[in-house]
This record gives sequence, structure tokens and C-alpha cells, in this order.
Amino acid sequence: MADRDADTVKDDLRTGTPFWVKTPHSTVTPERMAGVGHVDVIVVGAGISGALMAEALSRAGRSVLILDRRPPVRGSTPASTAMIQHEIDVPLTRLQKQIGPKKANAAWLRSVKATNDLVELVRTLRIDCSMERKPALYLAGNQMGKRALLAEAEARVKIGIAAEYLTRAALKDRYGMDRQAAILSQDSASGNPAQLTAGLLTCAMTRGARLISPVEITDLAELPGGIALATRQGEVLTADHAVFCTGYEHLRQMQSPSHSVTSTWALASRPMKNLPDWMGNTIVWEAAEPYLYFRTDAAGRVIAGGEDEDAANTNADPARLARKARIIAEKLRELTGVDIGKPAYTWSAPFSVTKDGLPIIDTVPGYSRIHTIMGFGGNGITFSVIGTQIIAAKIAGRADPDETVFGFR
Ligand SMILES: Cc1cc2nc3c(=O)[nH]c(=O)nc-3n(C[C@H](O)[C@H](O)[C@H](O)COP(=O)(O)OP(=O)(O)OC[C@H]3O[C@@H](n4cnc5c(N)ncnc54)[C@H](O)[C@@H]3O)c2cc1C
Repeated sequence: MADRDADTVKDDLRTGTPFWVKTPHSTVTPERMAGVGHVDVIVVGAGISGALMAEALSRAGRSVLILDRRPPVRGSTPASTAMIQHEIDVPLTRLQKQIGPKKANAAWLRSVKATNDLVELVRTLRIDCSMERKPALYLAGNQMGKRALLAEAEARVKIGIAAEYLTRAALKDRYGMDRQAAILSQDSASGNPAQLTAGLLTCAMTRGARLISPVEITDLAELPGGIALATRQGEVLTADHAVFCTGYEHLRQMQSPSHSVTSTWALASRPMKNLPDWMGNTIVWEAAEPYLYFRTDAAGRVIAGGEDEDAANTNADPARLARKARIIAEKLRELTGVDIGKPAYTWSAPFSVTKDGLPIIDTVPGYSRIHTIMGFGGNGITFSVIGTQIIAAKIAGRADPDETVFGFR
């Protein structure tokens, strides 16, 4: 359960066992705290956001210290179902009304770029994390019917994002699923989020970055020309800059009224034989509340999730986890005809959302050298990529064209 009044929010970030923590090279070995001097940048958090940040900064030749209060890659990241999508939870048509077309278009276009950048980064660094490009299917549901989906597909195409509108007949014919309509889009992927994160951390460490755990940061201060962070044990660490990549937990200085914590559930089946061909290379989600989403891995496991609730703590209830897993498996069977039987792994987790579905990527208000990437939402991994790019530019003294789109709100 979260302690949200403390100096630093601490949550039980997972209940149950996510499949990814059982896969090989899903973490890295940290150092214990000793002999730490001044560095260019301290990155707090060794999840996907911190790993991407450390990789980018070490690539730019900066000295980096990564800290985490948990073992590396053992926060929210291994709970992720890792559908790496450019599609933001808030549809383009709705986001245009909410924050204006200019910012909404910029957010959607930047997400396309980020998914492609991530796939390319993994290829360049040769990270073994089963990263595969996949098209995505967005199915009509109780939040968007066929007319709304057609308008959504047209709006995306108008700004240069590939989107094919599928009628009920076309969807049934190509995918065997019966829904009013769907959007088929490109520029998405899936992978193993724990291996991806561990691979990025390893790469940064090979370039000289140090990763120390367990270390909990409880306070921060800006000094002339630098920053200082206080640890729970009373040490003070200094650097030119700090980046807080603390996921759904944050220090009180980073609280924002535009975000809230919800609960979500996920499962992985045993490796399945005889899945429909399309399922192996397509990720699927629906415009519904509560929603269902699913993908597969190379071994034929179906990894599915959804059933979100607007409550921060219900994810910690084991009885609810069993019930939600049954609902997800049953919805999957009704939609696709695939019966996964008893899931091999089930897990639940808190999940942060913002009103506009966009993350907060910014310098912390009141500071000039302390930054944060709070990668909220269903496409948190894509947002972590954007966050890394914007904060790396800030630290280098360069402006990023989209920095105002994702600022503190
Ligand atoms: C069930 C589920 C399914 C998801 N599915 C998808 C999906 O399909 N696609 C997608 O893109 N995203 C998905 N997400 C979202 C995505 O997983 C997250 O956005 C992402 O993992 C967040 O990564 P992070 O590095 O920011 O946070 P984390 O992985 O939580 O890492 C933050 C780290 O910071 C550390 N920390 C926190 N506070 C302190 C402190 N004060 N001092 C020291 N260390 C601290 C924590 O211990 C933690 O290890 C999903 C999330 C969940 C829960």
C-alpha cells in the first residue's frame, strides 16, 4: 500500500509474479555504496526510464551514477506487458480538443518517432530482448464506435501517421474478431521489458556508469553550479544534474495535481500451440472501459492485461487478482476463440494516469538542474524514450521542439 504523505512516496509496485522476472538476464548486479565522488549526472531509478537515461548520458560521454532503493529492474518495469506503441491512451481526435491541435499532433508524432527510435537503439546496441516490430489493432468498444474510429483514422492520416480503417467485415475476414470496426496501425513493437532495461543498464555500465543499490533518496537541493541529494542513511551525493526516473513513486517536490494512481491486472499463458497466425505478430487493444489488450511472445505465450480500476490500492488484493485474471482470460476467449486455460503467471500493479494521457517530462519546478521523467500511461515505455531525449537535450543546453508539450501541468 502506498505511503503518499512521506518525503518520498513508496508503493508495493507489484502483486503476484510477472513472467519477465523469471526470464534470464532480466536484471544486473549493482554495487554497494562506497567511494562515490561528484559525477556529471545522478539518475534516480533503475527501471526502463533510468536505464534509457543512463544509456543516453553515457553515450554523450557523461559520468553517470544510477541509484535505486530496490534491486535494478524490480520496480514497475517488469510488470509491464511491453506493448511498445505510438498510440497514446487518449485518441488524437480527443486530445486535439483537450489540449489543442498543435500540441496534440506534436505528442502523437513524437510517439511515432520514439517507438522507431527505440527499435533502432535496441538493434544498434544488439540488446537481446526479443524486440520485434508489430502492427497494432485498435478495436471499437464502448468508448469509440465505428464513426469515432473512422474520424480517428482520418485525423491520424491527415497529420502523416499511417492508420488503416477496417470495417466490421474486413476485421472479421482478416482477424476473425467480431467488432464494429478497428484501426490497423504500424510503428509499434513488443519486447521483454526486463531484458531491455537490463541490456541498457549493462551498456551504460560498460561505458563507466555506476549502479548502486539499495539507496533511497529522501531529499534534494540545488547548489550554485550543481545539486545535492540526501539518502535515507544520511549520506549526501553531489552532481552537476539529477534526473528522477522514479516511475509511479516520487518525492513530494514532484507532486502534480494532473496525475492519479489506478490499479491494473495482467497475465501470461503457458506457450500455446495453434494460435491464429496473425496473433504472433500483432498487438491488440480496445477503445473500451475497462479494456482488454494482448500480445504474444516468441514462445507463443499470450500476454494480456486490462480491467483497470480507478483506485490506487485494489491491485494489492490477491483474491481480486485471481478474479481479474479469470475475466481477462474469458474476454480473450470470447474475442479471439483462444482458450488459454489457467494462466501460467498473473500479476497486478499500480498504474499512473494523467488527465491528458501525456507524461510529465520537465525540470522540477523551482529548480534548474533537477529533472524528472514520469512515464505515465499505457504507453509508458514510449514516453520514457521521449523523456530521455528531452532531458538529455536540456542537460546538454539544447532545446527540444516538444519540451512544452510534456511539461509540468
Ligand atoms: C501491468 C502494467 C502493464 C503495462 N503495460 C505497458 C505496455 O504494454 N506498454 C508500455 O509502454 N507501458 C506499459 N506499462 C507502463 C510501463 O511499464 C511504465 O511506464 C514503466 O515501466 C515505468 O518505468 P520507470 O522506469 O519510469 O519506473 P520503474 O520501473 O518503477 O522504476 C523506477 C525505480 O525508481 C526507484 N525509486 C523510486 N523512488 C525512489 C527513491 N526515492 N530513491 C531511490 N529509488 C527510487 C524504484 O525502486 C524503481 O525501481 C505497464 C505498466 C503496468 C503496471
